[in-house]
Amino acid sequence: MSPSRPSRVVVIGGGIGGLAAAAALHRTGRQVTVLERARSLEPVGAAISLSPNALRALDVLGIGDRIRDLAAWQGGGDTARSSAAESRGGLRTPDGRWLTRTDAAAAARRFGGPLVLLHRATLIDSLAGLLPPETVRTTAAASLTDPGDDHRPARVRTPDGELEADLVVAADGINSAARRTLFPGHPGTVYSGFTTWRVVIPVPGVEFASHETWGRGCLWGTHPLKDGRVYAYAAAMTPAGQQAADDERAELLRRFGHWHEPIPAVLAAARPEDVLRHDVHHIAEPLPAYHRGRVALLGDAAHAMPPTLGQGGNQAVEDAVVLAHHADDLAAYTAARLPRTTAIARQAVRVARANMMSNRAAMAVRNTLIAALSKARPELLLRGFDGIADWRPPQSPYAAVHTGTVGTGER
Ligand SMILES: Cc1cc2nc3c(=O)[nH]c(=O)nc-3n(C[C@H](O)[C@H](O)[C@H](O)COP(=O)(O)OP(=O)(O)OC[C@H]3O[C@@H](n4cnc5c(N)ncnc54)[C@H](O)[C@@H]3O)c2cc1C
Repeated sequence: MSPSRPSRVVVIGGGIGGLAAAAALHRTGRQVTVLERARSLEPVGAAISLSPNALRALDVLGIGDRIRDLAAWQGGGDTARSSAAESRGGLRTPDGRWLTRTDAAAAARRFGGPLVLLHRATLIDSLAGLLPPETVRTTAAASLTDPGDDHRPARVRTPDGELEADLVVAADGINSAARRTLFPGHPGTVYSGFTTWRVVIPVPGVEFASHETWGRGCLWGTHPLKDGRVYAYAAAMTPAGQQAADDERAELLRRFGHWHEPIPAVLAAARPEDVLRHDVHHIAEPLPAYHRGRVALLGDAAHAMPPTLGQGGNQAVEDAVVLAHHADDLAAYTAARLPRTTAIARQAVRVARANMMSNRAAMAVRNTLIAALSKARPELLLRGFDGIADWRPPQSPYAAVHTGTVGTGER
C-alpha cells in the first residue's frame, strides 16, 4: 500500500458491509463514495441477528446502544412479547419438546451484551444515516478496472465515468465480480446443500418463546422483534434451484404445518408474497488474501458463509471497523481478518451439518446429548460462541484485549 494515507475511498456495494465500511472510513476523515447498483438501499425484507461482537463494532461507529435498544429477547423490553418467560427461549423438537432452554441473561453475561434481532432495513438505515448526503450513489453498478498499486491509484468504472481511488472497498456480496477480478483462479462459491425461507410479519394474539426447532434434514425458528412483528425462518436440505410448483407458503405448510405452535399460527398469518426463499451458497476454499493492490474485499465478497451461526453480517461489520483501523496497511487487514473469518465460516458449515442431519439414529444421539448437557452443564452449550461473540474491535472505545478460541486475528 502507498505510504501516503488513502484519502479517496470508493466502496462498491451498499449492503451491510459496504455501508459499515463507508461509515468507519468516513469517521477517520476520508472522503468516501458508495456505489450501489440497486435503485435504492433496500435490503431483502428479512431480519438479521447481531451478536455482541458486531454490536461492539457498531459502538466504534457510535450506534451500538441504539441497536442494543432494539433487543426483544432479554426480558427487559416494554412489549408484551418481551416477558421474563420469553427470555428463556431454546431448542425444540417438532412435537414441541424442549431440548434446551437458553437463558438470554446468562448468554448476555457471558458475552458482554444481548443478541439483537432487527429488521435489515433498520440496520441499513442506521448505517446510511452516519454518512453525509451525496455519499451513496444508487443505480450505480460499478466494476473494478484496475486494482492499483503503490505507485498508481485504483480505478473503478461507473455509469457516470471512471473514478480513481486511494482505496477501493469491494463489498459487492456473495457473487462479487471484484473477487473474480482480483483472484481469477479462485473457484468461487459452492451450494451449501440447503434452501431457506424467511418471513417478517405480524402474528396477532400469539404468545410464544423464541425457539429453533430441529427436524429431519430441516429446521424452523421463530423470534419476536421489538416492533411487535415476528421473524420466522426455515431451512431444509434440498437440491439447488428448486421452487414450489404452487407457492412457498404452501411449501412451508406441507413441510412444517404439522409442527408445534407457534409454527402453524405463523403460517396462518403469512401470505404467499411474505415468504422469501433463497438457496444458500458459501465460499468453501478461503481466498489467499482479502486484499490486492489498493483493493480490500469485505463481507460476503470475501467470506460468504452459511447462516447457521448468524455471523455473515456480523463478520462484515467486524471487517468494516478493522479495515478502517488498518486502511494504510491492507496486509495487516488480511492478517487480522482472514484466519478469524475462515475459522468461523468452517464452524458454520459444521453446525449446518449437525442442525440438519437426516439420519434418525444420529439425530437421536445428538438430541439425547444436547438434552443431557443442557441439564448438567447448561453453560457448555454457550461455549460454541466463545471466541466469536466475545470479540472486541481494535480501536476506541475498546482496548485491544482479546480472548477466545476461534482467534481474533488481531495482532
Ligand atoms: C437466510 C439467511 C439468513 C441470514 N441471517 C443472518 C443473521 O441472522 N446474522 C448475520 O450476521 N448474517 C446473516 N446472514 C448473512 C448476511 O445476510 C450476509 O452475510 C450479509 O448480508 C453480507 O453483507 P454484504 O454487505 O457483504 O453483502 P450484501 O448484503 O449482499 O450486499 C452487497 C451489495 O452490493 C451490491 N452490488 C453487487 N454488485 C455490485 C456492483 N457491481 N456495483 C454496485 N453494487 C453492487 C448489491 O446490490 C448489494 O446491495 C444470513 C444470510 C442468509 C442467506
